Amino acid sequence: MLDSFKKSGNLHFPEQQVETIIFRNNCFEVQTKSERFSAKKVVLACGLGISKLALQVGLEVPLRPQRGQILVTERTRPMLVQPFVTIRQTGEGSFMIGASHEEVGLDSGTTTQEMRRLAQHAVNVFPQLSSLQLVRCWGALRILTPDTKPVYAESASCPGAFVVTSHSGITLAPLHAGIIPRWIVEGKTPVGFEQFHSRRFDA
Ligand SMILES: Cc1cc2nc3c(=O)[nH]c(=O)nc-3n(C[C@H](O)[C@H](O)[C@H](O)COP(=O)(O)OP(=O)(O)OC[C@H]3O[C@@H](n4cnc5c(N)ncnc54)[C@H](O)[C@@H]3O)c2cc1C
Repeated sequence: MLDSFKKSGNLHFPEQQVETIIFRNNCFEVQTKSERFSAKKVVLACGLGISKLALQVGLEVPLRPQRGQILVTERTRPMLVQPFVTIRQTGEGSFMIGASHEEVGLDSGTTTQEMRRLAQHAVNVFPQLSSLQLVRCWGALRILTPDTKPVYAESASCPGAFVVTSHSGITLAPLHAGIIPRWIVEGKTPVGFEQFHSRRFDA
């Protein structure tokens, strides 16, 4: 995806952390520690970093982190054809076991207690898994809105500033690769899109 993004003539600055966004003369000035970029449109898609930057373009987007821990086993012969919510076997043969739902702020670490619980659950469901070695585990933060549904919104006070965030960035990839870019580039709000605006949390 990154390759074709660059082949289309786009520039990518992954090391630049955006600090401020100012809307002036119908143009956005995006300031990082070392550089200033200007643009006619800005899309905030920076996960838990969105809330702070969105306020600067007139949007209030409440988000919270929620940790999930995941275990990965060594590879083994194909045993599980269909994926389950908490247990899946990858094409390469590893089992992925997870995930927890923990309210621990910005801590993306792992705990023995949670890993034990996940492993026990997996072995209860599929006793064959008890003979496999665990090779990896990690914790990561979900990006959740108050109703856990996506926010797709354009700012009314700073037109051209968009917020795009969803906990299901992968599951909803067809939507994120189709309707959303057309909405941002062409400026036509798709029918029914209003319900994804963050103002639904004002009530
Ligand atoms: C345990 C777990 C299970 C999950 N399961 C699923 C699933 O089954 N299906 C699914 O679709 N999704 C799932 N997800 C969510 C998915 O993996 C994505 O994390 C999610 O969709 C959000 O993606 P994103 O690109 O919006 O945000 P992120 O992946 O968080 O990316 C945001 C990026 O913005 C950067 N950033 C932050 N602030 C700034 C700033 N000021 N300036 C510049 N850059 C900044 C961050 O460093 C980061 O690289 C799961 C996540 C977890 C943790």
